[in-house]
Amino acid sequence: MSEIIKLQDLTRTYRTGDVEVHAVRGVSLLIRPGEMVAIMGASGSGKSTLMNTLGCLDRPTSGSYFLDGADVGKMERDALAAHRNRTLGFVFQSFNLLSRTSALENVELPLFYSRPHPGSREQRKRALKALETVGLSGRAGHHPNQLSGGQQQRVAIARALVNDPKLLLADEPTGNLDTQTSIEIMEIFQNLNRGGMTIVMVTHELDIARYCLRQIVMRDGRIVKDKAVNDRLDAAAEREQLNIEQDALHLAP
Ligand code: ADP
Ligand code: MG
Repeated sequence: MSEIIKLQDLTRTYRTGDVEVHAVRGVSLLIRPGEMVAIMGASGSGKSTLMNTLGCLDRPTSGSYFLDGADVGKMERDALAAHRNRTLGFVFQSFNLLSRTSALENVELPLFYSRPHPGSREQRKRALKALETVGLSGRAGHHPNQLSGGQQQRVAIARALVNDPKLLLADEPTGNLDTQTSIEIMEIFQNLNRGGMTIVMVTHELDIARYCLRQIVMRDGRIVKDKAVNDRLDAAAEREQLNIEQDALHLAP
């Protein structure tokens, strides 16, 4: 099997009262292991609806979705939850952390639902490893309100990584962050991708999409453009460049 995501003529229609909204109008898409894909498009073009379907947070109205070889539409609820849990992690624009629990406990959370359950020591070990991956080992005991936006998003990424998924999905992960912090998040994504992780993320900023290997553009519920990025930006290099420029500013008389 050569694809991790296979969509065939997927549609999603919302019905509110008498009104029908055709949010996704027939999307077919193949994404292979190791890709890093940006999904772009104007507000309302169906990006989040598509991502929620990819993340098994929502079911399509018609069409089929194979996630890592399994036909999601044919799976029972529990089997789907287990398949989802072991295959993918999801990152939201607004972090979605539990505010009254530490960073470490937030990251441990998905492991409570893992079957077989890893046991509490192993659970802690894996959560600490995920925090280390995002450079936050030193903040394990901090609560979300003691962390910056960028740090909160890194905790959310660690939480998405804790089950060691093949696929990371992110809906506007840098949408609430400043430029420098956004580049730091893209650096984490690029490191994960170079380690073999497949990444699909929504962004409406071309600057951010240029860190990816493939750009897909949606309009009115359809894919209108799908192209490879041949000269993707390197986030680590961009971050260093920004640091140099800022140091120069501070040193200026
Ligand atoms: P994007 O993420 O690209 O901004 P969305 O997928 O959120 O787009 O929305 C696509 C369309 O579907 C929009 O017209 C939006 O208003 C509509 N929509 C999204 N979610 C719902 C919902 N839960 N109920 C009804 N309409 C919705
Ligand atoms: Mg959206």
